[in-house]
Amino acid sequence: MKHLLENPVFAMASRQFDLAADVLELPQELRERTKWPKRMISVSLPVRMDNGQVHTFTGHRVQHHLTLGPGKGGIRYAPDVELGEVAALAMWMSWKCALMDLPFGGAKGGVACNPAAMSARELESLTRRFTDELLPFIGPKTDVPAPDMGTNEQTMAWIMDTYSAHEGHAVPSVVTGKPVNIGGSLGRKEATGRGVAFLANRAAELLQLRSDSSVIVQGFGNVGSYAATAMARFGSRIVGIGDISGALYNPNGIDPIQVSQYLQTHRSLVGFPDAEHLSNEELLVQPCDILIPAAKERVITSENAAKLQCRILAEGANGPTTPDADDILNQRDDVFVIPDILCNSGGVTVSYFEWVQGLQSFFWSESEVYDRLYRLLEPTFARVLKFAKDRRIPHRTAALAMGIQKVADTKRTRGLFP
Ligand code: NAD
Repeated sequence: MKHLLENPVFAMASRQFDLAADVLELPQELRERTKWPKRMISVSLPVRMDNGQVHTFTGHRVQHHLTLGPGKGGIRYAPDVELGEVAALAMWMSWKCALMDLPFGGAKGGVACNPAAMSARELESLTRRFTDELLPFIGPKTDVPAPDMGTNEQTMAWIMDTYSAHEGHAVPSVVTGKPVNIGGSLGRKEATGRGVAFLANRAAELLQLRSDSSVIVQGFGNVGSYAATAMARFGSRIVGIGDISGALYNPNGIDPIQVSQYLQTHRSLVGFPDAEHLSNEELLVQPCDILIPAAKERVITSENAAKLQCRILAEGANGPTTPDADDILNQRDDVFVIPDILCNSGGVTVSYFEWVQGLQSFFWSESEVYDRLYRLLEPTFARVLKFAKDRRIPHRTAALAMGIQKVADTKRTRGLFP
């Protein structure tokens, strides 16, 4: 299995696991059993494109573990999707769900494609074909996909519809992050970004930062745009925003709503008025109180970690900071890290609420959703800080160790089959 997973993102998740397993002094047998994915599925997806030709895409679903409940994790559409990357993301989902005490295993899926260059019809055909290939492996009790980079509520609706057509009745709980009119939860779309903003504010209070703290957000999709608007609503000044097309910086503040509207018509940040235009690399090292990477993995590296000028690094993306960068940040006591598996866990937590609501066919108001979310995030944040302080370890290692410990303990208790 190891040779199939050769990939820099998997190497990173693997190194993080080893560090946390060392802290826990996990016995070798349990370490191996906890680390490697339970199941990896790779499929070929022939799709007739709008030009009449058939293009065959490659898709993956990795179920890292199913020990605590159904697999849970997003589906990513991006050109560079690879099995090793999907396996790393599945592994992080395992520790995240366990850290948040959710009754789920960890999973992730992805298709190597460029969604920005595909029509809605092509994306629908691809999604339905992918779902069809995954039919034996997904379901409300086995593995429940959700959106990730390049996918959205519409993608989830197509998955739900394809799965339901095979079952012969509507099965809303096969996915989360679906539209509210087919059984989605109020607040799910905004949940990851709002959760990031909630925790960034808790950290800002702890560090006694000024109330109009300055914020830079890299990535302005689902996570980044809602994190930016929530931060602005809480009174912060958004001084930088980046996406795949480039980055904007204005120390006097940028209105995230105006950026969203601009993107709707122009599809790119190029030409946005009233801000300096920078590269994404430059954006990350501009001065700010709170830096929120919310785009992709491995953007904070040994090259730029020493140059960050933020007080709080609130990781909206999965895996934005490499272990080499962590080594540098761990030497800097001026940067407070809220690690990804904690910081962006608002998304999977509200996915859990959506799954529960769907299974009961009993739906909650948005304020109930957020009240419950914040009541879970707050104590988990406190537990991670305490675990880190008691053992004198970085926040990331603490969060990972807490998640890994729970998965390992559950495996030990359940024993081996047969
Ligand atoms: P998305 O597709 O909605 O948005 C991605 C954003 O990142 C876009 O603005 C895109 O332009 C930008 N981007 C892509 N490549 C970039 C690059 N090279 N440089 C700068 N910007 C770039 O995706 P999303 O759902 O917001 O996910 C973003 C991150 O958050 C991913 O790491 C994902 O795994 C993680 N995450 C998402 C959720 C969720 O609920 N959607 C939950 C937890 C974690």
